[in-house]
Amino acid sequence: MEDCLFCKIIMGEIPSAKVYEDENFFAFKDIAPVAPVHVLVVPKKHICSIADLKPEDAEIAGKMLYAIQKVADLLGLSQDGYRVVFNTGEKAGQTVHHMHAHILGGKEMAWPGV
Ligand code: 5GP
Ligand code: ZN
Repeated sequence: MEDCLFCKIIMGEIPSAKVYEDENFFAFKDIAPVAPVHVLVVPKKHICSIADLKPEDAEIAGKMLYAIQKVADLLGLSQDGYRVVFNTGEKAGQTVHHMHAHILGGKEMAWPGV
């Protein structure tokens, strides 16, 4: 996707604070953190959102959860816990249309919080 911000970040065309990368995923610090730890995990494949997943994306979608676990471990969040958010679509506040998970941690979080 030529005009996708996160594709450009993955390609290194736009700088980011990378925290993890493997064959299928890239993780970097959110530019406007809403928690002491706020990292985005994105698949290297351009998929617009959870709503756009196709049956052939099932493997990458499953691997994404595992990548999130790895990144949370790297960030030292596993013991205290963390929140994972996938904003999906307009009303949910999705602003970048390349599927991404927000990993939020480093503070007490209330629930429900919507
Ligand atoms: P969304 O609102 O789509 O769920 O999340 C998009 C996130 O991307 C936001 O939290 C926003 O702060 C972050 N973001 C937007 N532009 C950039 C950027 O250029 N670099 C980084 N690191 N994060 C960005
Ligand atoms: Zn993209």
